[in-house]
Amino acid sequence: MAQYDYDLFTIGAGSGGVRASRYAARLGARVAAAEERYLGGTCVNAGCIPKKLFSYAAHYGEDFGHAAGYGWQVAAPAFDWHALVANKDREIERLNGVYAKLLGGAGVALLRGRATLADAHTVEIDGRRISARYILIATGGWPVVPPIPGAELAISSNEAFHLNELPRRVLVVGGGYIAVEFASIFNGLGVDTTLVYRGERLLKEFDADLGSFLAAQMQHKGVRIHFHSNIEQIARDAGGGGLRATLAGGAALEADCVMYATGRAPNTRGLGLEHAGVNLAPSGAVVVDSKFQSSVPSIYALGDVIDRVLLTPVALAEGMVVAENLFGAGGRSMDYEGIPTAIFSNPNVGTVGLSEAQARARYGEIDLYRSSFGPLRHQLTGSGEQVLMKLVVERNTERVLGVHMVGPDAGEIIQGFAVALKCGATKRQFDATIGIHPTIAEELVTMREKTG
Ligand code: NDP
Repeated sequence: MAQYDYDLFTIGAGSGGVRASRYAARLGARVAAAEERYLGGTCVNAGCIPKKLFSYAAHYGEDFGHAAGYGWQVAAPAFDWHALVANKDREIERLNGVYAKLLGGAGVALLRGRATLADAHTVEIDGRRISARYILIATGGWPVVPPIPGAELAISSNEAFHLNELPRRVLVVGGGYIAVEFASIFNGLGVDTTLVYRGERLLKEFDADLGSFLAAQMQHKGVRIHFHSNIEQIARDAGGGGLRATLAGGAALEADCVMYATGRAPNTRGLGLEHAGVNLAPSGAVVVDSKFQSSVPSIYALGDVIDRVLLTPVALAEGMVVAENLFGAGGRSMDYEGIPTAIFSNPNVGTVGLSEAQARARYGEIDLYRSSFGPLRHQLTGSGEQVLMKLVVERNTERVLGVHMVGPDAGEIIQGFAVALKCGATKRQFDATIGIHPTIAEELVTMREKTG
């Protein structure tokens, strides 16, 4: 291996790149990682972490009101956007430092700068050429804003984390994870919030009940949702500093901020990948096989840049697989079945396994258990918020194929049920499990009546 400067050179120190680099180093490889922007990638800097902090902040917006039902008299609370942004930035800085320490502690050489490929075994960074036996592309993705007239006036989630002022009115475009999360965040922080979505159901890749139930809850909390609607053009408002978004059909919506959450594209431009002979998909994603090897045998890729499952824990798992296969015992592959996920909208959504439609298509005969109810907590708050729980069960084997919910702490609840599904739990075993009372999660082990 000594013919190369390093055994592994990772481009991109985000979740997946850092995990693969650290693990490879632990297995004895000589590893370097290059990062041009920020340590920890999207998750730490412009994704999961700041989003969840904002989401916590937004929840307080209604918690103060809810507290009154429990006897707390709270003077009209005031919200300080600048304090939130500053505190969030401080936490991110701390995490950036943690990542630097983790890499350093593992013996990974961290190079700050933009690395590009010169050939199958060589990267260039700041005019230096460095050779590596393997090169790992872990450059992640970047938000996509459709090129409509006035698109430059809109922001993406990247900028939403650093707005100088909290807008008074916001339009959020899209119906996926980021759109519903940010619409909930803005709404919770007291911003007049409108969601504009071209389709008819939010979160369309998930069980149909989740998106429709979530939409009703979000509307109940004050988010306006325009379905079958899209913005054709954005212009500055003639009168003041606001924006005017013209919808297909001619209607116009006014706002101070238009935020696009219309998907993310792999970061592969200008990396020299084509030059090195790496095949890219039409989306720009690096095409890899089940071992994350690209069309160039020495070049691997993982995480958002391969555009499979855009989730941090998936990138981490892919990083372990790559490191283990290149420098460990090998034989590892990635299991993409039953990946649980949560959407931190308000209320939260949590889901694992097959949707009703997927289960029907794959197994034919299925049983459904569905329950919606007002949780105990809100009996005193009077918020009217409802929770949805749903189980999708294969009729013949009684195996639980999907667990879906909309409600508080959905991610915390679904994480445990994901283990049960991995173990192949049956409805009978769910029924044999004693509930924890009084919780909302107990509903998942106490539903007895089939609803479909
Ligand atoms: P998604 O792919 O989830 O959603 C994109 C949305 O934008 C869809 O509703 C899509 O509509 C709509 N859209 C796409 N193109 C256009 C267009 N040209 N005009 C109008 N609408 C359009 O992407 P996100 O940006 O929300 O998130 C990216 C990924 O990041 C997620 O898929 C997820 O994997 C990850 N993520 C995970 C989070 C978590 O774990 N909690 C949080 C945030 C992101 P249509 O449905 O009609 O195609």
